[in-house]
Amino acid sequence: MSTIDGLPPLRAVIATHDLQAKKQLGQNFLLDLNLTAKIARQAGDLSGCDVLEVGPGPGGLTRGLLAEGARRVLAIEKDTRCLPALAEISEAYPGRLEVLNADALDIDAARLLTPPIRVVANLPYNVGTELLIRWLTPAVWPPFWQSLTLMFQKEVAERIVARSGSKAYGRLALLVQWRAEAKIVMTLPPEAFTPAPKVHSAVVHITRREAPLYPADEKLLGRIIAAGFNQRRKMLRASLRGVAPDMEEKLRAAGIEPTARAEEISLEAFCALARVIADGPA
Ligand code: SAM
Repeated sequence: MSTIDGLPPLRAVIATHDLQAKKQLGQNFLLDLNLTAKIARQAGDLSGCDVLEVGPGPGGLTRGLLAEGARRVLAIEKDTRCLPALAEISEAYPGRLEVLNADALDIDAARLLTPPIRVVANLPYNVGTELLIRWLTPAVWPPFWQSLTLMFQKEVAERIVARSGSKAYGRLALLVQWRAEAKIVMTLPPEAFTPAPKVHSAVVHITRREAPLYPADEKLLGRIIAAGFNQRRKMLRASLRGVAPDMEEKLRAAGIEPTARAEEISLEAFCALARVIADGPA
């Protein structure tokens, strides 16, 4: 059977290299190269970009990224069993694919890439949210990446794009949306993967903002949001009591009803509250 790149189909790659999926590594592989090319296209024009891919596995998405014209791909894979299959892809695309056998949580990838940089990954579910939070909270903003195009469990994707008033709205939505624009660009049924996971998945495309959407001190905003959502059923005048003195007054000054709950409050209003607290007496 011919493929987009002349390399063997992924089922053959998996059989040749004996890549039985391991649950503890979050391995649910995409074997349809048309689908992986479609995911790669969601990241935008890759031709002038370096791409960071976490968890290439047998290389389905990696091949999609290269076929769609990525200037260079740096792929970080923890499972040594996948390296021979990935080496074959490197040979087919000379000088364009570098594979690092490492835990993505231990690697400072920014140092190894040349801007503009896009991150594209079918993430291992066990480290996906942790990596997302790290990419969104670097020491300095803007971060090393222009965009993140990431596969998540659908439920996590919905939490990333959620708006105030919805059940999925919370810390993750606020963290992402303060510094970036996020939208779900694809949803995938369990059968798209081998083996099929129990849940549906979704691809989220996140584009960085050059500066946060509303001014606010990052640490203070984080404290307010954490306190508000740690006790999300409580009214804000109670859940935020420990954050600063005279909280009822400060909530009102920010245009927020003290009896409201965190899930009703927009990002704009949380940022306004952070500014009121920062300006007020400690
Ligand atoms: N990208 C491939 C695809 O779409 O078919 C594989 C996706 S699979 C969901 C996740 C991949 O991440 C696996 O290959 C797994 O070995 C790898 N992985 C798991 N934890 C990792 C970590 N901490 N660092 C790097 N790779 C990891």
